[in-house]
Amino acid sequence: MTPPNGADSADDADGANDADDADRLAYDQARWSAGEEAYEPLLSEKNTERVAVESPLPDDLTREELTLPAVSEPTLARHYTRLSEMNYGVDSGPFPLGSCTMKYNPKFTEDVAAHPEASVHPDRSTRSVQGVLALRYRLQAQLATIGGMDAVTLQPPAGAAGEFTGILVARAFHEANGDERSEVIVPESAHGTNFASAAMAGYDVVELPSAEDGRVDLEALDAALSEETAALMLTNPNTLGLFERDIVEIAGMVHDVGGLLYYDGANLNALLGRGRPGDMGFDVMHYNVHKTFATPHGGGGPGAGPVGVVADLAPFLPDPHVRQAEDGYERYTPDQTIGKVHGYEGNWLVLLKTYAYISRLGEEGLTDASAKAVLNANYLAERVDYEIPFGPFHHEFVASAGKQDAADVAKRMLDYGVHPPTTKWPEIVSEALMTEPTEAERKRTLDQLAAAFNAARADDDDTLADAPNRTAARRIDQASAARNPRLSWHALDDE
Ligand SMILES: *Cc1c(COP(=O)(O)O)cnc(C)c1O
Repeated sequence: MTPPNGADSADDADGANDADDADRLAYDQARWSAGEEAYEPLLSEKNTERVAVESPLPDDLTREELTLPAVSEPTLARHYTRLSEMNYGVDSGPFPLGSCTMKYNPKFTEDVAAHPEASVHPDRSTRSVQGVLALRYRLQAQLATIGGMDAVTLQPPAGAAGEFTGILVARAFHEANGDERSEVIVPESAHGTNFASAAMAGYDVVELPSAEDGRVDLEALDAALSEETAALMLTNPNTLGLFERDIVEIAGMVHDVGGLLYYDGANLNALLGRGRPGDMGFDVMHYNVHKTFATPHGGGGPGAGPVGVVADLAPFLPDPHVRQAEDGYERYTPDQTIGKVHGYEGNWLVLLKTYAYISRLGEEGLTDASAKAVLNANYLAERVDYEIPFGPFHHEFVASAGKQDAADVAKRMLDYGVHPPTTKWPEIVSEALMTEPTEAERKRTLDQLAAAFNAARADDDDTLADAPNRTAARRIDQASAARNPRLSWHALDDE
């Protein structure tokens, strides 16, 4: 079966319509105004109507009239279509964000999640939601099998929240053994959330330098390990896309001092069907379901970041957990639970999409997706003119923009009609362009991506610094956008 998100199998047979894919670098995003800046009026600027309000609420809590947008259906449909045309998403074109992995989200999972029976109120009785509990139970088991873990909680709402949960579970395990430990070791190439999760869980973070080849430096690790080591956090393949070949030895070293090995699941894509963190010696891990199992990226939420653990750690998992009972399924509180890390049982409809995706692909489909992810990254890397200092890599590679500014390259790639890669991280590669095409892209799209990289490489610095020119919005002030977000259109009135 062709996986619903797999690259077209008749890739080269359907060339007639797409022969120019690789040349399609002249791109213009929609701009719905005559002026320099794109501007699509708010619905309330198009037309409004005063509407009388009748409400059972007390008078002092209601208004007599409300001003509401009053537009025809075509105006409404065009408004949202225009907004979407001024944006770039994974449905518009390739989105090769390394590590952050923007996967194509198969539409059938949306249908599954939209099923009326899927949205059940979390306070409903266990008896009346047996179907939901059965699916949750099966998903726990699927993820446990995929990761080589013994138990899985579905509660954490993101990968980062999963890390925090996993480290809290590790801490509870050590404390239950009367073992007070103060340190968590994190490689310098790790994602920022690893450092943050360990610190939030109350640990001192020990940063581990990388070896010359970009992998864990065993001597440095040996020096960092001690009776104070609660855990070592690793992702494998690491953020350079390199497989940690010494993983079994690393696990032995950590376990010898009584520490636990934590697996950051962001790169599980490279391993699906051919390697399991549990078999490598990892004790606790999170799954980024939006990176590996094609659920929508949360954008801060709602997402999901399930956590798997080996049997010794299972009693500490969050409350509630689902298990099989004599006559169906039940929720229960694990014996030594760390408590709750999110309301109820996590973001169920996201988890349902994960379940649908894994069930549809099956073992064969997941293994195939992983193989294609690795093949695509390697194919693209061969065609990109930028230098790639570390390898051999798996599902992603980190190129260096060299003397160019990686952020400028990224802006310029938008002009060429593709989304840019992750930039300036990991810092071990200067001006990093961290690239992950994913399994869903076909050969012609990869050629288009390579052409965009190479066109940017040939551009002069002034052109790069002036980009993007062909997008709806020009260069925005990213720092202010993050630090002083204006989340309501009323904010515009305050100026
Ligand atoms: C994305 C990512 C995380 C954090 O996961 P979220 O689901 O985005 O919170 C952690 N580690 C690595 C390596 C990542 O790429």
